[in-house]
Amino acid sequence: MVNEAEAERVRGIFQLFEKNRSTECTLEELQRRGWTTKAWMTQGQKPYGGASFNEHSLKRLLSNELYVGSVRYQGKLYRGEQKGIVAPGLWTRVKVILEALPPPVAKPRNKNGALLQGLLRCACCGKAMTARATTHAERRYRYYVCHSGRHAGGSPCPGHYVPAQTLEESVIEHLRGGNLQHAAARKLVKAYAAGTGGPELVALAGAAIHSVFYDGATQEVTIRLRPIPEGAGAGKR
Ligand SMILES: [Zn+2]
Repeated sequence: MVNEAEAERVRGIFQLFEKNRSTECTLEELQRRGWTTKAWMTQGQKPYGGASFNEHSLKRLLSNELYVGSVRYQGKLYRGEQKGIVAPGLWTRVKVILEALPPPVAKPRNKNGALLQGLLRCACCGKAMTARATTHAERRYRYYVCHSGRHAGGSPCPGHYVPAQTLEESVIEHLRGGNLQHAAARKLVKAYAAGTGGPELVALAGAAIHSVFYDGATQEVTIRLRPIPEGAGAGKR
C-alpha cells in the first residue's frame, strides 16, 4: 500500500524528528524539502494530503502504528499483515521523544479569530497586514496593521492601520455583490450573516479568498478569490 519512495520519506521523517527532537525544527525542514502530507496513510488507512505538514499531521504520522507493522484493535496492538516500514527501534525511540514533548501551546497568531489573518496585504507597500487587538476602557478593539508601519524609523505607510470590523464587513459586502458562481464565497457570506465566528469562519474565509489588498490612502479594498475547482460551482445559484 505504501510504495518504496513513500516508505523512504516516512523513514526520513522519523529520522529527522529523532535528530531534531522537535516538531518545529522538523516541520521547518519538511517545508524546506517540499515534503507534503500527500499519499501518507492515516490511522484509518485513508489517504489524505497534498498539504504542508503541521504540528498535528506530523505527530499523527510519527505515532502511526501501521508504519511499524502493527495494527490497533479495540485498544490493543497486534502484528499487522503488512511488514513495517520503520525499524521498531527507531519507532520506539521516536515514541519516547514524542511523549516527552511539552504540551502544545496555543498559538497566539490567530487567537482573535481574525477573518482576514494571513489573507490581507497592504496595497501601499505590499507587506502583509496582521490582526491585533487591544483593550481600552474594558472594550476590545481589533485592527489590522501593516508590517512596515511597525518598524520605527521606516517610511510611514498610509495603509498601516485599519479597524478590523469595518474592513471585514466591507469584504463581506463586496463578496455579497460579487461572483455568484463562487460556492466558497457564497458559503462565507452566508456563515457571516448567520453569525458564525471564530476558527470556523476563518477557515471558510481561507477557502474562499486568495488575498485581500487594502489601500490605506484611498480605503479601496481589492479581493482576489480562490479559483473555482473544476466542475464545481457552475450552474448553481
Ligand atoms: Zn504598508
